[in-house]
Amino acid sequence: MPNQVLGADKSIEQINQERMNLFKKAETITQIPWYVLASVDQYERNVRRTRNDIPKAKGVIGIYIRPEVWAGMQNPDQSDTNPTSISLFGGMGIDGNGDGKAEPDNDEDVLFTFAAYLLSYGIDLENIKIGLWDYYQRDKTIGLISGHMKLFQKYGRLDLDQHSFPVPIRFNYSFKNTWGDARGWGGRRIHEGTDIFANYGVPVSSTCYGIVEMKGWNRFGGWRLGIRDSSNTYHYFAHLNGFADGLQVGQIVEPGQLIGSVGSSGYGPPGTSGKFPPHLHYGMYKDNGRTEWSYDPYPQLKVWERAEYRKRKRK
Ligand SMILES: [Zn+2]
Repeated sequence: MPNQVLGADKSIEQINQERMNLFKKAETITQIPWYVLASVDQYERNVRRTRNDIPKAKGVIGIYIRPEVWAGMQNPDQSDTNPTSISLFGGMGIDGNGDGKAEPDNDEDVLFTFAAYLLSYGIDLENIKIGLWDYYQRDKTIGLISGHMKLFQKYGRLDLDQHSFPVPIRFNYSFKNTWGDARGWGGRRIHEGTDIFANYGVPVSSTCYGIVEMKGWNRFGGWRLGIRDSSNTYHYFAHLNGFADGLQVGQIVEPGQLIGSVGSSGYGPPGTSGKFPPHLHYGMYKDNGRTEWSYDPYPQLKVWERAEYRKRKRK
């Protein structure tokens, strides 16, 4: 399949390269690590995608700074691009590309503005996180951005969107679209996920690059695990028989990495099992910077499953 095209005739690879160049340039000048800027940008881009109260990004950087924050609350000209008057009114906006204007929809201006803001706190991660907290004032957001940082720092690249099907296709399994069914075993009022039926002990693997955000027992979900990927999406695996050895909260996982096995745990105190046929309950949740909601994972599962079959054919 050809590379996805965004507006102009640029591939995802080209766009990521442009982004990386901007992050590295800002790092050189401000000493704020590139992966910090990349993580803020990634977080904001994903929020922007899910919200219609924020204008679409014009360039390759996704960070959005509200006009009153950019120009200054008391600034009579909320679309002010004059760095001097912006600074006079306590606005955040600075001129990053040296054209004499501070424009909130210019990639370099917005990125350098954010980097300069963080720099006012310091260049070590502790202080950067305080700066992020003062800016976003939401624990969840800081958690998401911190997770992105870990991933970008470890892999040294921006494209961590690869996914895989959670059960090896060589095993017997079956699933159908049960989104919103009143029945099914998910532990919520409506069924928020897809049940993949398979035998006890069939391996379950991560569907994404991400950070293990939650692991343990839940009354309905049984032994369950949550992984947060670099698109702010939470991948939820429930009713497991057990977890992969040594798997820990905060750990980085990759697509296809073993995380546990299929079981029928749940619907009772810790260790309860066998109240329903063994299956993997798989759910997906998205965060938009304010709240989190579940969406139907079935279409994604079909895409990932087909990709696995294509891979097998090629071998
Ligand atoms: Zn289920």
